[in-house]
Amino acid sequence: MSQENILIINCGSSSLKFAVINPQTEEEFINGLAERLGSPEAGLRWKINGEKGKQAIADADHDAAIGALLSLLRDANLVETIAAVGHRVVHGGESFKESCLVTDEAMQAIEDCTHLAPLHNPANLTGIRVAQKYFPELPQTVVFDTSFHQTMPKQAYMYALPYSLYREHGVRRYGFHGTSYRYVAKQACEMLGLEENNSALLIAHLGNGASASAVLNGESVDTTMGLTPLEGLVMGTRSGDVDANLFSFLNKECGYDIQQITDLLNKKSGLLGISELSNDCRTIEEAMEEGHEQATLAMDVFCYVLAKKLAGMSVALGRIDGLVFTGGIGENSDIIRKRVVEMMSIFGFELSEELNLKHRFGGEGVITTNEQCPKALVVATNEELMIARDTAALIA
Ligand code: ADP
Repeated sequence: MSQENILIINCGSSSLKFAVINPQTEEEFINGLAERLGSPEAGLRWKINGEKGKQAIADADHDAAIGALLSLLRDANLVETIAAVGHRVVHGGESFKESCLVTDEAMQAIEDCTHLAPLHNPANLTGIRVAQKYFPELPQTVVFDTSFHQTMPKQAYMYALPYSLYREHGVRRYGFHGTSYRYVAKQACEMLGLEENNSALLIAHLGNGASASAVLNGESVDTTMGLTPLEGLVMGTRSGDVDANLFSFLNKECGYDIQQITDLLNKKSGLLGISELSNDCRTIEEAMEEGHEQATLAMDVFCYVLAKKLAGMSVALGRIDGLVFTGGIGENSDIIRKRVVEMMSIFGFELSEELNLKHRFGGEGVITTNEQCPKALVVATNEELMIARDTAALIA
């Protein structure tokens, strides 16, 4: 096999996701996850050509995890097929408007963005350094969650705060899930027969983290996440938008400090917070069917906020060609798609119950009826493939 595959590495603070993909054929040879790194329970799980495997790697850190991954790749005869390593990096601030090769300057610029993503960027940097150690002969690239949104106009990314906070500390809206939007926008245009440079899409990326974006002519013009991934939509455990005075209110009323309130908004809110049951959309849907009141309410709030935000962002587009659902929830939950499309009937959307149900558990396609109306559709995102494509283009 020739050397044309890309190893993709996505390092979190205690986890590491990986995949080996051929960007031309889109074939995925291996994917997997090292998790609970730094603890006695650390483990490695993978799938090679559909076959699952796992291995305990007690107390492994990122370095040991990538070492274990290298052995795995050797055993699967994949090492010689890899042409480059592509890394997912969460925050590129205003320094990175697109993906790039790893250089000393790029590493420094990612480091300089650490104050914007204190949990993620250091982990991403660790992943790059360790990968350089184990794959010294391979070029490495970085693909950012934020860079796609660097095309947003200033009116969309500025907060109405003292300007000095932007100038001196970079306080502005950045947006995330950019790699997914880039991939999905392209796919949606192909499916709708649109030229990407003459298209107007609303895209909802709904996973554990959820955001929506307005994409005009292939470029992000607005998005719901902000300085951090907390802003915007209701998510699994994140609140999305709240009144910022909640901080002083909870401090005075409940005696919570900044860390407690930050945890509450990021880890105890969203679907989990309202339902007091689960952050997982499947569990919420099942409970709803059994008449669980708070699960029903959590779903109502999730859908309403999503529809309201999508409608609001339409002002950035001028017209809507397509409303796209993606991510674990967007690709699977016919219930949420139905509600949101119906709430947006003011724009002319007409749901096809049949097509929507057809895409109940995955699959891609249009879910609205009328040929003339803006269409709603389901697109399966593939961030890994996008990273592989970027990496292949950068090393070409
Ligand atoms: P991440 O942001 O971690 O990548 P995913 O995109 O995998 O998340 O999405 C996870 C979410 O997708 C969870 O809330 C899960 O419940 C939801 N999900 C997955 N399958 C279904 C399904 N069949 N019906 C409803 N929700 C689903």
